[in-house]
Amino acid sequence: MTHYLLAIDQGTTSSRAVLFNTDGKPLASESETFSQHYPQNGWVEHDPNDLWQSVLRCCQKLIAKQNIDSKHILAIGITNQRETTLVWEKNSGKPLYNAIVWQDRRTTPFCEALISDEISQLIADKTGLLLDPYFSATKIRWILDNVPGARAQAERGELAFGTVDSYLLWHLTAGEMHRTDATNASRTMLFNIHSQQWDEDLLRLFDIPASMLPEVLDSAAFFGKTDAQLLGAAITIGGMAGDQQAALFGHACFQQGMAKSTYGTGCFLMLNTGETALKSHNRLLTTVAYRLNGKVTYAIEGSIFMAGATMQWIVEGLKLLRHAGESEAMVKDVPLDHGVFLVPSFTGLGAPYWDPNARGAILGLTRDSGIDTIVAAALQSVGYQTKDLQKAMEKDGLRPTVLRVDGGMVKNNWVLSFLADILGAVVERPEVTETTSLGAAYLAGLQCGVFDSLEDLAQLWQCERRFEPKLDAAARNCLYAKWQHAVAQVRLQTPT
Ligand code: ADP
Repeated sequence: MTHYLLAIDQGTTSSRAVLFNTDGKPLASESETFSQHYPQNGWVEHDPNDLWQSVLRCCQKLIAKQNIDSKHILAIGITNQRETTLVWEKNSGKPLYNAIVWQDRRTTPFCEALISDEISQLIADKTGLLLDPYFSATKIRWILDNVPGARAQAERGELAFGTVDSYLLWHLTAGEMHRTDATNASRTMLFNIHSQQWDEDLLRLFDIPASMLPEVLDSAAFFGKTDAQLLGAAITIGGMAGDQQAALFGHACFQQGMAKSTYGTGCFLMLNTGETALKSHNRLLTTVAYRLNGKVTYAIEGSIFMAGATMQWIVEGLKLLRHAGESEAMVKDVPLDHGVFLVPSFTGLGAPYWDPNARGAILGLTRDSGIDTIVAAALQSVGYQTKDLQKAMEKDGLRPTVLRVDGGMVKNNWVLSFLADILGAVVERPEVTETTSLGAAYLAGLQCGVFDSLEDLAQLWQCERRFEPKLDAAARNCLYAKWQHAVAQVRLQTPT
């Protein structure tokens, strides 16, 4: 009899449900997009009902279309957009406010008022994060301070906080379970990643009652069972991880030094640092990679705001291409050292610069620069920015032994070949590119005994293509020096 694992991937722009067999092969999927709400400049919200209903519909459609018996789904794994913040009433389940999305900047003034060397140090030491509106803590506080009556309700113990994983779990279990996993907790700025506890000092600092917080479990654990009415059977929810951590897990990056990079709208590079919560001196984040049987594996993370989004701008903004997929054929004969650099700091620069004021530029144009040169420069900017992250990691004493990649951009062979060249490292593209969902399914499968160990999972992971660096060190260094010069120019010209 065939058995299945079901992964729920609740992302920033869409919800997905993916059905896997017990060998970790994806069989079918359903997805749905939902509305983004921008009530004010810099504010980004989701309707909590959209998040829950889109997930539920995807799961129900998948089960119906594949005509499977829900009883044969051994376990569900949940992965999700991280940091996005929800607060709801424990009694009724009614959300107090829309979900405040990770991109939302409304708490910038609060962070600016709070910041001092001492507070930054406290937050970095306990959570591995930088004080920033991005993380959940200041978003929860905003809801408590701005929704009439919310703070009094919270103080009476009537409210629950959760990131999207917890909110979905709460609904899937019909209000039975209020839980999260250690990876999601590590993005709230309230969780001590060393003691693996909610931190009293931070709760006091952000004025958040402990009664609102979910119980924190391992990433593979018994989170609860679905209400049998919802999906046709009471199915165990056995895995949970934030999306980037799930991708690291789905790439089977279980050894210290293994890294993954996801190239979607933005890019997230995550390097497994084993049992050590390594502190970055180069503005990278320290985070929980996964927690299994109470044992924490840590990671270092760097993010780039514009990866595929640069190609969206090339397609939709400049209209140089009909779709991003056309880029590979267009640039195949463009030499790597064409001399044009596109610095995509449209919304500032992420790690390791963290310069919110930098703005984009194309430098080095000559009369023979054509559309193909600009498109090549746009694609190369993703490689150069990854190199910036690699350099920051090196300064922290880390060097990835292997880089496994996923996301919409990695279909592009030219991009991955340049990435290997500029990093001077092997880049591996996996057979299963649904890596985030796969990570959630792996965790659920570990919990329900489909997989015995991480070694088991590492055996399942298959490389579809390896990209070896072909560029010699002198050429690589020369190109990278020119990129650094271009970034420096952009930052010099930033209006203050
Ligand atoms: P997200 O999950 O962040 O929505 P995806 O992982 O689906 O993003 O990746 C989509 C991004 O990948 C888009 O921004 C698109 O411009 C880019 N992209 C898709 N195909 C290609 C390609 N062949 N070459 C370069 N970029 C591509």
